[in-house]
Amino acid sequence: AVRVRFAPSPTGFLHLGGLRTALYNYLFAKKHGGSFILRLEDTDQTRLVPGAADNIEDMLEWAGIPLMRAHIGEAPGALPAVPAARTVRPGHGSSAENRGCLPLLLLFTAAGAAEEGGPQEPPDTPIGLMPVTSVVSNYASLLPNRYDNRCRNLSQKQVAEKLAKDPRPAIRFRLEEEAPAFEDLVYGWNRHEVASVEGDPVILKSDGFPTYHLACVVDDHHMGISHVLRGSEWLVSTSKHLLLYQALGWPPPRFAHLPLLLNRDGSKLSKRQGDIFLESFAAAGFLPDALLDIITNCGSGFAENQMGRTLPELVAQFDLTRITCHSALLDLEKLPEFNRLHLRRLVSNETQRRQLVGKLQLLVEEAFGSQLPDRAVLDPAYVERIILLRQGHICRLQDLVSPAHSFLWTRPAVGRTQLNAISEQVDVIAKRVLRLLEGPGASLTQDVLNAELKKLSEGLPGTKYSNVMKLLRVALSGQPQGPPVAEMMVSLGPKEVRERIQKVLS
Ligand code: GLU
Repeated sequence: AVRVRFAPSPTGFLHLGGLRTALYNYLFAKKHGGSFILRLEDTDQTRLVPGAADNIEDMLEWAGIPLMRAHIGEAPGALPAVPAARTVRPGHGSSAENRGCLPLLLLFTAAGAAEEGGPQEPPDTPIGLMPVTSVVSNYASLLPNRYDNRCRNLSQKQVAEKLAKDPRPAIRFRLEEEAPAFEDLVYGWNRHEVASVEGDPVILKSDGFPTYHLACVVDDHHMGISHVLRGSEWLVSTSKHLLLYQALGWPPPRFAHLPLLLNRDGSKLSKRQGDIFLESFAAAGFLPDALLDIITNCGSGFAENQMGRTLPELVAQFDLTRITCHSALLDLEKLPEFNRLHLRRLVSNETQRRQLVGKLQLLVEEAFGSQLPDRAVLDPAYVERIILLRQGHICRLQDLVSPAHSFLWTRPAVGRTQLNAISEQVDVIAKRVLRLLEGPGASLTQDVLNAELKKLSEGLPGTKYSNVMKLLRVALSGQPQGPPVAEMMVSLGPKEVRERIQKVLS
């Protein structure tokens, strides 16, 4: 059975790259009727960011990706296995005596914890379209301080001496064997020289915590993970993981490394400006579906790019064999368009539309609060009419509380001099418009209003149609720009329009 996991380290908030890894895991699990687990890997206690774990969970929930939760070491059997490593007898790394618990090599470092720092994490550099060989040499060049395996051949006496000095040693994994080649489901056949490049890696730190490499292997095994789908930055670590699986006598899962998500120009998505964190997109009013849509529309995992797909459609169309090793180039400038599409989809569904009404009511209260003339303005029927009328012109629901739309929620303060500057016939025009709105006014549509306003200006020699419109626009909204005047009138409704126009009469 397919069982996958998304295993972020809570060292930062969830960003678009993480969302994509989580999403592809979910799509793969769902497609094959399998399960998907969120596993928070907090092995590096010094790099934990407060709130990151909650943020990752909250944002996945916000994105609508259903998951099972787990914590590192929570897998049944995972916890006992880790302390077992501490009981391994020194110098007997791969010997048969130690099979059954963890056949690891207990090694001591003079400087204790300080020496654990060595090369454990892959470099945080874009790998992009580089061939795998240069990925490896790039990786190697970043690791000038290969650990010299100095504790490999200590005598029992030396071990005892070191233990006396430092009773909390770090434990390294004795890398004696060649890493096996493996077939990555995306990158094809791979094998990385872990031993010669890095030296024996630390797997248990002196603080008792496993490093990521050990924790990941132990948990993946005990959780019954069938496929590991993770970022391509972990490709070179996989050989090390396979050696651990081999030493433990466990069958490894299949691996599929996902190419990086980059900006359209090939540069790294920057976390620095905070603009790729899911939280920022949510706060800016983008819909989760729009984000899922845009990150799956940059060329991997689907037969074709196609805007507007929803999560169930993504599941149906996802195909792991279509993931290529090319980086996915993301054009965030298109996000508003994606959002507009998904907003319109929600508006067309009655239940979803009702939810949008509730959200917009909150946004209006937040934006205008005390300025709201009376609560009637927040009448759900009114709010719904606004959404239906404006949906084609906005990208986000938030746009409906922008300054250009404030006239919908608050009455403008319009000075008579402002109007006199537009036309000398303010009162005449206003009175005629008021007459227009009497009688059958309530049923006036945009088209009828346009025709009537045209007629009205023709009946006033010396008054240009454009000035009539300008005057009305300012009288109704206090703004020189905004939606078409007739649409403004339909949005506000005849009663509100009458009241606003009456106010400008001298
Ligand atoms: N904790 C690792 C990370 O932060 C997970 C890598 C993996 O999926 O094995 O990316």
